[in-house]
Amino acid sequence: MKKNIQKHIFRKNAMKKYDLHIHSNFSNDSIIAPADILRIAKEKGLNGIAITDHDTMRAYSVLKKLNKDKDFEIIPGEEIHTNYGHFLGLYLRKEIKSRDLFEAIDEVHNQGGIVVIPHPITIASIHNFNYSLGKLKGKIDAVEAFNSRNFKRHNDLAQKEILKYGYAQVGSSDSHIKSDIGNGYTLFYGDLRDAIKNKETIVGGTTKYGFVSNLCAGFRGRIIYPIIGSHIKSHQSRK
Ligand SMILES: [Zn+2]
Ligand SMILES: [Zn+2]
Repeated sequence: MKKNIQKHIFRKNAMKKYDLHIHSNFSNDSIIAPADILRIAKEKGLNGIAITDHDTMRAYSVLKKLNKDKDFEIIPGEEIHTNYGHFLGLYLRKEIKSRDLFEAIDEVHNQGGIVVIPHPITIASIHNFNYSLGKLKGKIDAVEAFNSRNFKRHNDLAQKEILKYGYAQVGSSDSHIKSDIGNGYTLFYGDLRDAIKNKETIVGGTTKYGFVSNLCAGFRGRIIYPIIGSHIKSHQSRK
């Protein structure tokens, strides 16, 4: 009996592990089917994920139907392209319309969502976030301090900026292929939104396979998809 109570207390207080940046094949540069995302995330011991396809939330309803585990959380999200680069909207109720950074941030917050700046610094400056993190104080909720497809050096540089400005940190895989899932993660106690608000999140993961992932996704996005069409098109035609 005592053992059971202890087990329960331990479980209640256990740290949760979420991967907060995952693309499904509803994104035009990922090849992972929603069912595989769910299966692999659970196999890797994650307690939750955020689905953050590029400019669409269509995979969320598929994942929600597939998920039979009430202890596994799927956060509806989107990676939104704006005039200053990408950002992640999490806990969204509907897709974000504006492509203006500040209007889109307001749209997310008006829905009760949270705003995360992913991969603020990358090797390909085209993917960098082109607005000063220091000038976004009070406007954003967290910054990605760990992205598994980034080089360690660029994650370290991002972390330096994050510490300088005192933002909450999140870690994620930015999955585009199956083997990416869980390679970056955020650890926290209790509710993720509270943990972010209180800046109590911890990040971790490996960047060891990032290069392979970038190569695969780049090859598909730039060479294969223009020839055979992307998965996003096949989803559209199925609807
Ligand atoms: Zn991005
Ligand atoms: Zn992404």
